[in-house]
Amino acid sequence: MLTFQKNQLLKDYSTWGIGGPAKLFVAVRNASEMIQALQSSEKTLIIGKGSNCLFSDKGFDGLVILNKIDFCEHENSNLRVGAGYNFSRLGAQTARDGWKGLEFASGIPGTVGGAVFMNAGAGGSETCDVLTHVEYATKDGIQIFARKDLSFTYRTSPFQSMCGAIVAAKFELTKCSDARQHQLDLVRYRTNTQPYGEKTCGCVFRNPGKMGAGALIEKCGLKGLSIGDMEVSLLHGNFMVNKGQGTAAQALELIEKVYEVVKEKTGEELQIEVRKIGI
Ligand SMILES: Cc1cc2nc3c(=O)[nH]c(=O)nc-3n(C[C@H](O)[C@H](O)[C@H](O)COP(=O)(O)OP(=O)(O)OC[C@H]3O[C@@H](n4cnc5c(N)ncnc54)[C@H](O)[C@@H]3O)c2cc1C
Repeated sequence: MLTFQKNQLLKDYSTWGIGGPAKLFVAVRNASEMIQALQSSEKTLIIGKGSNCLFSDKGFDGLVILNKIDFCEHENSNLRVGAGYNFSRLGAQTARDGWKGLEFASGIPGTVGGAVFMNAGAGGSETCDVLTHVEYATKDGIQIFARKDLSFTYRTSPFQSMCGAIVAAKFELTKCSDARQHQLDLVRYRTNTQPYGEKTCGCVFRNPGKMGAGALIEKCGLKGLSIGDMEVSLLHGNFMVNKGQGTAAQALELIEKVYEVVKEKTGEELQIEVRKIGI
């Protein structure tokens, strides 16, 4: 049976540590609970680890559904994984077992559902590269989509304009003796170049072209710029760190400031990657 809670603070479900109360909040552990939750409110928001969301300080005026559908079935080169499964763990686990394709996931602190929704990627690889099927819940039941019928681009998926929930994904990997070393190299690079372990939401802006957003922001001398408790990381220009009690209002002001300075100095109009919720 589903347990609905009132006024859960979204900052407790955000890697940025930002966000006001959800009017209603429920955790789901399987596909039928997800369908039930979707049927129970007109206004819903699905969240995984909240590692790519900027929740409003006012919170969310509807039902927040926390996806805890957490299983992983592996048969030869095929994987079927619950959308609440930890994407980073999946990357490390498959690489350790000698499978190539998801090494890049190691270090991305989201869920499998969030990764499919965002088409998360790193080091030249993207989630859609190894995805074969998506199991998708709506109020009416489950639909299965084949990868060949879905079009993905850089950090976008067709699910961004749909109103159901990813409940599971299937991937196809290939055997490779170098997979583990590749995964370890990616993690080492990540921990050396990103403020890992601090309160962030990953990259704030999409990379506009050859020169990444982080390099552009650094070139404009914006590393270390802060508003309230929100600061442009000293390590990576495209990360903003919540140093303590940062708020969505401060994050938005800092994002706006960075956008304006980069536009003025380079002509580039950066686009935000992080999902604004209730803003
Ligand atoms: C330190 C750090 C490093 C990062 N590095 C990377 C990186 O290298 N590459 C990269 O691409 N991203 C990176 N990110 C961003 C983030 O981890 C990814 O975008 C991740 O895929 C988001 O997953 P999530 O479960 O946290 O999604 P959430 O933040 O919970 O949600 C993100 C969006 O997806 C939707 N959503 C989530 N789950 C579902 C579902 N099951 N069904 C339907 N909609 C859903 C939400 O409604 C929301 O709109 C990083 C973040 C951090 C904090």
